[in-house]
Amino acid sequence: MEKVIKNNDKTKFIETIKQIIKGESFTNFEKVIKSDKLSHAYLITFEDEFYNEQFCIAVAITLACGKSQPCFKCNNCLKIISQFHPDVFTYPQNQTFLVDDSISIIRNASIKPMLINYKIFIINNVDKSTIQAQNKILKTLEDTPKNVIFLLNTTDLNNVLQTIISRTLSISLKPLKSESVAQILKAITGKVDYTAINLGDGLPGKTLSLTNQKIAAEYDFILSMLSEMKNTKLIINYINKFSEKSGFLNRLNILQDVMDKLLHANFSSSNDEKIQSLVKDFNVETIYGILNLIVESKKQFEANVNPNLIADYLLFKILEVKYLCNIKK
Ligand SMILES: [Zn+2]
Repeated sequence: MEKVIKNNDKTKFIETIKQIIKGESFTNFEKVIKSDKLSHAYLITFEDEFYNEQFCIAVAITLACGKSQPCFKCNNCLKIISQFHPDVFTYPQNQTFLVDDSISIIRNASIKPMLINYKIFIINNVDKSTIQAQNKILKTLEDTPKNVIFLLNTTDLNNVLQTIISRTLSISLKPLKSESVAQILKAITGKVDYTAINLGDGLPGKTLSLTNQKIAAEYDFILSMLSEMKNTKLIINYINKFSEKSGFLNRLNILQDVMDKLLHANFSSSNDEKIQSLVKDFNVETIYGILNLIVESKKQFEANVNPNLIADYLLFKILEVKYLCNIKK
């Protein structure tokens, strides 16, 4: 479990945890903790693996520091940041939570904490653990030694054993506000990528992976496609590029996002020059039509319809409305 973290990563890590602690999800959770006496086990449910892990660390650091806001300077804070606090443990030790992990927890939980009042066990992705491992830990979850706190998390409550759910206090988190995601993104990557944020559904991990996928390049591609496609000859190249299977859904999402922005720009002008230059080609009525088509296209893609066919229909329709929109003027 011990990992060496570089200083640079440490700074990012601290900044991320700080941003999480500031966020609405965390303050709501804090209220739950403070309104009642601490439960021996929490099960945090949220669609985002990355956020779940960081969230549990934020809870652990808050409990371990003991100040109303963690200081990130005391011995306890520093040990958690360096991932070798003697009373805070993260599982699974490898990819999946196995019976061995359960055995290690059971043994460990019976030993008194050394530095703080609690012994904290974080179990990430509990839904991905084996049934045997989940069963093995049941007794400890039911009859938890004094001062032991479990922080379990899952992206999918349906895959967690009912017997685990009934022995824990379940907390569901809501997608984060764009501003909170932006702050986390800034902490980790040093910049804010609004395209990724718009497409990330309030899930910081998803948003991060979108930034890594060079969304900006795709976004530019979609914008130039919309501005340059003027005749049926030109459109074929765009269809081929748009329908490349890897990233197809992403492109549909970006197109949807661009249409939302255009819709907005029809009412109040956009700061984005490229968007503003497209407004004349797409009126409100046609944007609604295209948005419906995008929703249909996503359904077809999920139903395994060939992306090339989907893109063909979609882009020709866009060309048609763009043409009609220009004649009307
Ligand atoms: Zn501290």
